Amino acid sequence: MSDTQFDYIIIGGGTAGALLCNRLSASGRYRVLLVEAGRKDDYHWIHIPVGYLYCIGNPRTDWLYHTEPDAGLNGRTLRYPRGKTLGGCSSINGMIYMRGQSRDYDQWAQLTGEDEWRWEHCVPDFKQHEDHYKLDSASLAPDKRQGPISSEFSQLHGHGGEWRVEKQRLRWDVLDAFSAAAQEAGIPATDDFNRGDNEGVGYFEVNQRSGMKLAAWGKMSSRRVSWRMSSSTGVRARMATSPTTVSLSASTTLNGPTGLRRMLSWMHASSQVRRPRSSASQSPSSPNSRSTSARARASAVG
Ligand SMILES: Cc1cc2nc3c(=O)[nH]c(=O)nc-3n(C[C@H](O)[C@H](O)[C@H](O)COP(=O)(O)OP(=O)(O)OC[C@H]3O[C@@H](n4cnc5c(N)ncnc54)[C@H](O)[C@@H]3O)c2cc1C
Repeated sequence: MSDTQFDYIIIGGGTAGALLCNRLSASGRYRVLLVEAGRKDDYHWIHIPVGYLYCIGNPRTDWLYHTEPDAGLNGRTLRYPRGKTLGGCSSINGMIYMRGQSRDYDQWAQLTGEDEWRWEHCVPDFKQHEDHYKLDSASLAPDKRQGPISSEFSQLHGHGGEWRVEKQRLRWDVLDAFSAAAQEAGIPATDDFNRGDNEGVGYFEVNQRSGMKLAAWGKMSSRRVSWRMSSSTGVRARMATSPTTVSLSASTTLNGPTGLRRMLSWMHASSQVRRPRSSASQSPSSPNSRSTSARARASAVG
């Protein structure tokens, strides 16, 4: 029996979990445990844009779900890919960066009575996690800049966040012809599908950096992370280190008692190896804290 104390425990190192882990561990103030059921993201197809075709339907990276047979599909089932690796679905997805319509967010606000869903309230969050290439300009030499940025663009887009957004490299004549035809039919050309009004025709932007796919885990600083695995459990965990201030205990049935014990014994081992010295760890909420490396006393719930 052991128990390990963290300030935050995030279950699932997918798109949202990775972002959350990055934000929570950024200050170095909190000790964050991220538990991911899938494997590490060191698989080459995760990082090559076309690789999503090889990640979907692949047990290395996909949960391999299928829908129930559907009468409307003549009884067929459909593949329903879901990412099972660090980065989650963002490691196997199509990289399209496209926000919803502003009216959808406003309607959610109306339906839920939660004003926070309003488009104008979501835009700051979009901007905070965005790293838009057009806003790189400030750090570039004048001849490399993307041209002037309108104030409307700056109000809607951010720079320096976790989510890199770039112009896609692909261009096909047939797509250009389609775009021209759409414009002839009255659909306006656009190079920005993220203004809240998605009407238009053009190439969408992508979550890539210099032609490489960029999943949610990509921005996580390796300096903040230790990596261990327990292959027999299927549970993998990354731990972002920082001083313990609050103690939490977690109980889970993930992969059964053996898996749990193994995971917690890993957490115990990691704690002993990685703990930084900190007076914060002597908080009353950590009555079992010991000095030295095992400041996060591991006593496990199993
Ligand atoms: C094939 C595909 C293409 C897509 N294309 C696009 C696109 O082009 N543009 C776009 O914007 N969106 C796209 N999406 C959707 C987008 O990627 C997802 O909506 C988004 O990534 C979901 O993020 P999430 O954090 O909610 O979940 P996920 O990213 O799925 O993260 C969940 C994580 O939790 C882990 N997990 C689950 N159960 C457990 C457990 N018991 N214990 C521990 N860990 C667990 C999973 O392994 C996974 O890593 C696509 C999705 C797919 C599948």
